[in-house]
Amino acid sequence: MSENGFLYAYFSLIVFWLGACMGSFLNVCIYRIPLEQSVVHPPSHCPSCKTPIPWYQNIPLVAWIALKARCASCGTRISARYITVEALVAFLFLLAWFKLGADPRPLGLVAVSQIALVPIFWLIIYGLVLGTFVDFDHMILPDRVTLGGIVLGGLISWFVPDLHRLPGEGAITAVDALKRAAIGAAAGSGSLYAIAIIGRLIYKQDAMGLGDVKLMGAIGAFFGWGSVIFSVMISALVGSVVGVSLVLLRGKSMQSRIPYGPYIALAALIWMNWGSAWWYAYMAWTTPARLF
Ligand SMILES: [Zn+2]
Repeated sequence: MSENGFLYAYFSLIVFWLGACMGSFLNVCIYRIPLEQSVVHPPSHCPSCKTPIPWYQNIPLVAWIALKARCASCGTRISARYITVEALVAFLFLLAWFKLGADPRPLGLVAVSQIALVPIFWLIIYGLVLGTFVDFDHMILPDRVTLGGIVLGGLISWFVPDLHRLPGEGAITAVDALKRAAIGAAAGSGSLYAIAIIGRLIYKQDAMGLGDVKLMGAIGAFFGWGSVIFSVMISALVGSVVGVSLVLLRGKSMQSRIPYGPYIALAALIWMNWGSAWWYAYMAWTTPARLF
């Protein structure tokens, strides 16, 4: 392996570990934020016997396996959710990092234009994973993810305009990037709000929550209106496949509510890693002049 290859592998390991640690912190956030508890105090403890967890029993990925998924003092089972979130975030952090790194990029990833985008992607991953699991547990999307995402999306667009730079486009100004963020946020929340209204007219009940509306707004603020069209299509597709499967396999009724936030988050993650490249290639292929 060349010296650069070695360095790259070394940093990839660090990124993977950083992601696992972020996943570990996210487990705390997922549990505590909906209960409006502090995410730093008190320190981690077993939810069953309240024994504080020493640092070596709190090491991401490793501890859950070493403890054989049981609390060391009372033996209560520790949910596989913990290690799943740690591994998931480690993998997603690595994907964002691979977009920057050495050629050829694995898994069909397309390069990001500058290094500042990688920590921004990590921040977005944090929000999307937090929203996803809180929505699974409580059927709500915290405002700090959705509204926080809209505000942060605008701010970051201003300071890192490259976030909104299209493939093949030259440098864009902070004002241009902020405009694209605003258009994206309006397109995202507007289109889901319209879908929510139509859904209510057809099904005579709320098919979609205001949290979903705000989450799509946040995605538009970070990635522009193209990401909104993509995410609406992909989330509706995956959501209906999963919804129909649940009805068929588990005998759930067509009326039972499933959280929609996770599908929006999944669509946004696909957009970040692959979708934007597909989308702009498609646009370049179908539009002879630059109409977008
Ligand atoms: Zn315990």
